[in-house]
Amino acid sequence: MTAREAFNVALLDLLDDGGKLACADDPDAWTGDDPAEKARAARICRSCPLLPHCAAVAVEEKHQHGVWAGVDFGDRAARKAVAS
Ligand code: SF4
Repeated sequence: MTAREAFNVALLDLLDDGGKLACADDPDAWTGDDPAEKARAARICRSCPLLPHCAAVAVEEKHQHGVWAGVDFGDRAARKAVAS
């Protein structure tokens, strides 16, 4: 199973339980370039039940932009730290 597939399974479980993803409600904060918004998004990620799955997807799919699992993947050093 790929990280994306595992993420999707976990997401369906979350939605079935009435949960939701904060990043789905305010995607601009996760994908924009405003440092303050990215920092806010990263803080919100810390309480996300899918955080480990999200990190695995970002690493597996080699994302290089946006906030994933509380990490700014536009920051090469931060991205490498998650991947190691
Ligand atoms: S950890 Fe991933 S899925 Fe969860 S809010 Fe952050 S970006 Fe969205």
